[in-house]
Amino acid sequence: MRRLPPDHYITGIRSGDRLVLSRAITLVESQLESDQVLALQVLEQVLPQTGQSIRVGITGVPGVGKSTFIEAFGKQLTTIGKKVAVLAIDPTSQRSHGSILGDKIRMETLSMDPRAYIRPTPSGGSLGGVANKTRETMLLCEAAGFDVILIETVGVGQSETLVHGMVDFFLLLMLAGAGDELQGMKRGIMELADAIAITKADGDNAAAAERARLEYQNALHLFPPSPTNWTPPVLTCSALQNRGIPDLWHVITDHQNQLVQNGHRDQNRQQQNLDWLHTTIRQQLETRFYTQPGLPERLAEVEAAVRKGEILPLQGARQLLNF
Ligand code: GDP
Repeated sequence: MRRLPPDHYITGIRSGDRLVLSRAITLVESQLESDQVLALQVLEQVLPQTGQSIRVGITGVPGVGKSTFIEAFGKQLTTIGKKVAVLAIDPTSQRSHGSILGDKIRMETLSMDPRAYIRPTPSGGSLGGVANKTRETMLLCEAAGFDVILIETVGVGQSETLVHGMVDFFLLLMLAGAGDELQGMKRGIMELADAIAITKADGDNAAAAERARLEYQNALHLFPPSPTNWTPPVLTCSALQNRGIPDLWHVITDHQNQLVQNGHRDQNRQQQNLDWLHTTIRQQLETRFYTQPGLPERLAEVEAAVRKGEILPLQGARQLLNF
């Protein structure tokens, strides 16, 4: 891709030019050092225009109805005049190439909406690396004037924690009638949720959805109160019938207003930035270590010695790290 001068990206992003925004995101996602340097320049310049959006994370197991929900929710937001960007972090795309916003054309209606912008999951790299790119992409979208950023992730593995670490509001989508084991597995994620929505609350499933809502509501009462004084509500919704979707937007704006007023939103974002700093330091140190000239040979020797029990792993690590 032909690179543009930094000013071109900066002016284009600030004026909401999608083509330039997409090219800037491609820079952010690039592995090339020169692209990274340029991306950072652009990010630094647009930083004053960032931070104005409501950042929402959305998770749930495959099949729970995430993309159908985001399509309905996104349409709801654009109808009331909001500009919406949809990003994704998909751990499965590391393995299969089928990323959640990738090859299959999802959210067809939303993707045609002039107020919506949908960006597929960046591919390649570690999950942590991909998460950083999503953080940077989110900032670019904010500078381009998007009011709401939706970050979708699959409810498996550690990607929820990563997404939770970059949003103001974390929404967990759940199915009615999911087994106990599933609920057990979800406990950790439930503790992160600012709201739970039981999906597909329509037709024959409506009564079961209402029962699940009450169950989850009771389960949430058993969790310790959050430091922000927010009590996560449990709602039911149907993306197909567009029911419960506007209510969720009210919940999110209530939450945002409450947290902005009591200072927790900014505190939370500051803490997220510090975590981002430390994650980046750890990643850079690791990269520097593993890309040292001669490292593979030295590592192989130490590994052999550890395998034979000649030295302890700690000794091996100290030798390699020279401390
Ligand atoms: P994802 O894998 O979590 O993104 O789930 P999808 O959005 O692809 O939805 C999975 C399946 O559930 C699809 O067959 C959808 O048509 C269906 N589905 C999604 N939302 C609803 C809903 O509100 N009501 C009903 N009845 N089905 C739904």
